Amino acid sequence: MAIFRWTGNPWVDAGISVIQEWNGKDRPEMIGIDDMREVSGALLDVYLSEAWRKNLYSVFPNNPVTNPSVKNKKERLEAFLKDLIDGIAPEGRQGNCMACGRRDALSGKNRMHIPLTGYEGSHFFSYKADGADYCEACTFAVQCSPLMYYSCGKLLLLHSNSDRVMKYWTRRCLSEVNRQIASRKFTGCFDEKYTNPTNALFHIIQDLILTYDEQWTGEDASIRMYHFTNYNQGPDLAIYDLPSPVFRFLSYVRQHRKYPDWCRVVRRGYANARKKGEDEYRNSRNTVFTALMNGQSILRCFYDTGNKSVVGDWSLVRFYVKEVLSMNEKRIETIRRLGDDIAEIIRTSGNGRRRLGQLERAQNYADFRSVLLRLMRDSVALKADRPLFSFDDYSEYLFPDGAMGWKETLDLLLFRLYEVLHGWLVSEGVVVEESDDVEEGEEVGA
Ligand SMILES: [Zn+2]
Repeated sequence: MAIFRWTGNPWVDAGISVIQEWNGKDRPEMIGIDDMREVSGALLDVYLSEAWRKNLYSVFPNNPVTNPSVKNKKERLEAFLKDLIDGIAPEGRQGNCMACGRRDALSGKNRMHIPLTGYEGSHFFSYKADGADYCEACTFAVQCSPLMYYSCGKLLLLHSNSDRVMKYWTRRCLSEVNRQIASRKFTGCFDEKYTNPTNALFHIIQDLILTYDEQWTGEDASIRMYHFTNYNQGPDLAIYDLPSPVFRFLSYVRQHRKYPDWCRVVRRGYANARKKGEDEYRNSRNTVFTALMNGQSILRCFYDTGNKSVVGDWSLVRFYVKEVLSMNEKRIETIRRLGDDIAEIIRTSGNGRRRLGQLERAQNYADFRSVLLRLMRDSVALKADRPLFSFDDYSEYLFPDGAMGWKETLDLLLFRLYEVLHGWLVSEGVVVEESDDVEEGEEVGA
């Protein structure tokens, strides 16, 4: 009979992941009582150190480790963990435990035992009583969870639906814990000096993708980060989600031949990035990251209106709009073809450069439409062998949702125009060829 299965509760799953990884087990169901005893030993070693105790104040206030009036901390913690293990009942078909739902809680647990429980008005869990029903197995798991927390001002807890993300992230954190144990230099939860949770999340994900050479591209991983404190002054919790299309994009882009250009796109997201040293990057707000988290377009960071150039190429931007913005193939292709035709008009018509300026200045759907209409007339005047776009192109692919999404169409169109025309614009003296670095720090979605 299994002691553990994934529960969906982030604190319990974190602990299960720690026990599993610590003992080299592949699945939670394979964890046995001895595996739990193994981790108990490590907790007694690690948690009583000065640095870890400091971290634990904001996880388990007033527990044997963090309550200053408890003198025999080691004995008390040992007894507490042993009682939990001894109290584990066989798994049933149901139970009142809020996490696993398959065992009963032997005693009420509170925020000494489980972070963010038992506060009056606490909204994270759907009850307001002082205390929460957690069975002994799940409570034990939660005691192990700090080994995979990440220090980021407050603490960060990462939770994912992907077993592999959980496994490798836990492995990464535990290698840090093991390093501390081996050197007897305890410095607390894994800390890389990040204080900005969004930047930390992207760093963690990119680090995982880089360090563990897996086939990440097929992984449909969504990731949620809990940035929290459980201090006596009152709990605090913020949640950050990385959508699975963004995860897929990040894992793929790593292998893209234009990966260095993707890094330039990211760099453009830092406000005043040029003035900063490497250390300051870590914690300054990045508009590319925040837009990706919030489901906003970052197309604007792939091109530069000032010197009419692009970062990356069509294949890179195409992958982004397809994976992250869920743009369909036909729409992407229609915009590319329209871009190529408009580029031809710009090169050959007397009105060409004016039209480019009008597109760049379009502030809304109506502006954009009226420039397209003028381009349509230019195209007729140039005796093009087919219309610039058909009614179907217009209603189904350029503006499938009417006024909604017009900006994405325009941004992708401008990207294509600059990609095709940049060399010509330089040769015409319209723009001056610049060094590789484009202006950085522009607002996304502006
Ligand atoms: Zn349980």
